[in-house]
Amino acid sequence: MGKGTQAARLSKVFNIPHVATGDMLRGAIQSYTPLGQRAKQFIDKGQLVPDDLVLDLLGERLQQPDTERGFLLDGFPRTVPQAEVLGRMLIGYGKKLDRVLVLDAPEEELVRRISGRRTCESCQTTYHVDSKPPKVAGVCDRCGGVLIQRSDDSEQIIRNRLREFLAKTKPVLDYFMSEKWPVRKIDANGNMDQIFGRIYAAVLLS
Ligand code: AMP
Repeated sequence: MGKGTQAARLSKVFNIPHVATGDMLRGAIQSYTPLGQRAKQFIDKGQLVPDDLVLDLLGERLQQPDTERGFLLDGFPRTVPQAEVLGRMLIGYGKKLDRVLVLDAPEEELVRRISGRRTCESCQTTYHVDSKPPKVAGVCDRCGGVLIQRSDDSEQIIRNRLREFLAKTKPVLDYFMSEKWPVRKIDANGNMDQIFGRIYAAVLLS
């Protein structure tokens, strides 16, 4: 939904690892791990992956030494139990959250953005059929690889993902508020640079 692109940019600016549970799950699927095989059934339907699988992956990732100086979580937590476990993990690591960034965009805009998204099979560069088209349709500008649509980016699956968001992820926002986590809501209308400007300001200034 653009969050991955923004998170990658932000983690570069702050020189901290970008820890994206969606990327980690897709990596597990590509490597045919047992966890990846279980996760795939849910992702392909537009459902959230069960908490225990995601938490296993994340727990392992956060033990790697590159996260000691800080990290940026992308797409996590997506359920209240995930948020509760994260809270406990952070206490265990002696870390606190500096910011929780919530990107807010209208549903139809999300469907448009996600359904137009294409990714290079070889180098993973992302494109968008309207806002960032490749020079030659279906071909990566950078490496000449084939551009594909993610299996969970079709319109029907996107609508399922939005339903899951309303049922399971929206309550996480109330949880953040009740626990007084440092939430900043970002208006995610506009182009990538405008949105990044708002994110950067929310991180640095507020
Ligand atoms: P993303 O790349 O963040 O859009 O995630 C793609 C898909 O991976 C989601 O639609 C979920 O099926 C799954 N996923 C990613 N992160 C989580 C998470 N924190 N909890 C459950 N499922 C997740």
